[in-house]
Amino acid sequence: MFDSTTPHNAGVYLIHFDTPYKHARHYLGWAGDIGKRLARHQRGDGARLLEVVRAAGISWQLVRTWPDATRDVEKRLKGQHSGVRLCPICQHKAGRRKPMGAGRPVSFYER
Ligand SMILES: [Zn+2]
Repeated sequence: MFDSTTPHNAGVYLIHFDTPYKHARHYLGWAGDIGKRLARHQRGDGARLLEVVRAAGISWQLVRTWPDATRDVEKRLKGQHSGVRLCPICQHKAGRRKPMGAGRPVSFYER
């Protein structure tokens, strides 16, 4: 199903900050390889927001992925400014609904 030119874990991902950074509580991104991108983010690399979040000592976690979603999906989701609505942790805290499935488990992207 996958060949060498098709990263098997490309897609859109949502990161939830354990402590808000200013007004930001989430980071939504697209990566050709989510696992590699997360490893970069953990070093404070790959996104300006995650760089400053790391500098502020804020921990974060991957809360949701849209496997194989395109950059268009990322743009659409970003345009909605809907991190809270999309985030299973925030939804759960708000008591709005049961935690949503994350698509694939976080471990899928860990190597
Ligand atoms: Zn959240």
